[in-house]
Amino acid sequence: MCRASCTCVVNGVSSRSRFRAVIFDGDDTLWLTEALYDAARSTARDIVERAGLDGEAWELQQRRRDLENVALHGHSADRFPRSCVEALDLTFGTSGCLTEELRERVADVARSVFTAPAPLRDGATEVLDELKRREFRLALLSKGDQRVQRRRIADSGLAEHFEVISIVDAKTPESFESVVQQLTLRSDQVVSVGNSVASDIQPSLAAGVAAVWLPAYVWEYENRHALDEERSLTSIRTLQELLDIVG
Ligand SMILES: [Mg+2]
Repeated sequence: MCRASCTCVVNGVSSRSRFRAVIFDGDDTLWLTEALYDAARSTARDIVERAGLDGEAWELQQRRRDLENVALHGHSADRFPRSCVEALDLTFGTSGCLTEELRERVADVARSVFTAPAPLRDGATEVLDELKRREFRLALLSKGDQRVQRRRIADSGLAEHFEVISIVDAKTPESFESVVQQLTLRSDQVVSVGNSVASDIQPSLAAGVAAVWLPAYVWEYENRHALDEERSLTSIRTLQELLDIVG
């Protein structure tokens, strides 16, 4: 049985907690995906510009449309390519310059986000190994398209570290509670780690699960929390710092 303990800040209140399990986020916590989206958007913009069209106007529209499409299409694999093509239609649809070939080429580039391997965050394997050595139980609660996330989990080579793996379209207090139940622990025995205040930290704290924030370079959607909220959070700069926090 794990004897690890740590001082953690939950909703601004310091408390001495005894953790026996860690719930990890996947995208941009254990592996890095944001650069894949940036590379695809940049390549698509180049294609737009080589077609003689305004790449900056397309990119602004694509970013705006992708945010709007979260409400309509969630985190499905269809959303990002759809936003790229819809941005073409919205920006150039009445210009007479938009061809079906250009729409197809941009869609193909956008879909590459879901087949390109996402590199592991520095130290991911070593930190999970060390947590296991310290007898922490580990779970993965990942947000996104089921098929895409299953492939990223398989590609990561990290699956064997986790007792529980759950993929959801959006994290809620209930999805954290479900993982805690599957671990047959109480919420105050578990700590979570994630890169998004709104998607990871807020629902975890609402479920009574302490949360550690690992900021990452992410798109606008994941930065939708109030900035003054960051001051009350327990945060780390690297995954390795998690080892110091959980003890
Ligand atoms: Mg994430």
